[in-house]
Amino acid sequence: PLICEDLTRRFGRRTAVDGVSLRLEPGRITALLGPSGCGKSTLLRMIAGLEPLDGGVIRHGETLIASTRRAVPPERRRIGLVFQDHALFPHLSVIDNVAFGLAHLPRAARREQAAHWLERVGIGDRGGDWPHQLSGGQQQRVALARALAPEPRAILLDEPFSSLDAYLRAEVREDLARTLKAAGVAALIVTHDARDAMLMADDLILMDQGRVLQAGSPEDCYARPVSLSAARLLGDVE
Ligand code: ATP
Ligand code: MG
Repeated sequence: PLICEDLTRRFGRRTAVDGVSLRLEPGRITALLGPSGCGKSTLLRMIAGLEPLDGGVIRHGETLIASTRRAVPPERRRIGLVFQDHALFPHLSVIDNVAFGLAHLPRAARREQAAHWLERVGIGDRGGDWPHQLSGGQQQRVALARALAPEPRAILLDEPFSSLDAYLRAEVREDLARTLKAAGVAALIVTHDARDAMLMADDLILMDQGRVLQAGSPEDCYARPVSLSAARLLGDVE
């Protein structure tokens, strides 16, 4: 498992992430739910290695990945990151976008692997297209294929549905859950939508103002919120 202990990040006098601990298990989806500005993206960036730690440690099993004094560079963490705006390279074809992270493989194997992953996310026939020729949902799938192709041990998704309309959202949500499960990867999905969190998560983390309010099964968090703030996040209280 990928283990985060007491992660802290400050910007000036503001503490964006304040002692967050979590544990991501292979084959399980963890949803991180919290209001705008509570530190979700900062936490993901810390785990991915794009943001230094002011406190805490990140480990993969027994292996140290980051502390305040030591940090494995992002490209060697085997952690995939899918951003809010799925940010595909506009000047690369769809298949080359997916092949991008496979530089360690010989050219032929790279394309074969990329094609395989496009197939797995259900757009095997669009490899030759440019990103702008795809719909938002299809681009989202390319971003997912690109993140999964190097076979990361964990994948972090920051608001993966934010650019999708309600109908597409439901469809992509189910596909995403299925693909992540099939890949057996540890997944952390950031959202501020309680529905997304409840419907996808094996484990749920409620966050506010840089801190974990509650962590547990979605059912348990819903049935027994530990505070009014936790209940509000799950949408039961106005
Ligand atoms: P949203 O749901 O709107 O994406 P978030 O939960 O992802 O919000 P973050 O982007 O992690 O929130 O930001 C958490 C806090 O840290 C905010 O108060 C933000 O202003 C601050 N912050 C984030 N990055 C920086 C930075 N590079 N410099 C200064 N402050 C920052
Ligand atoms: Mg964010």
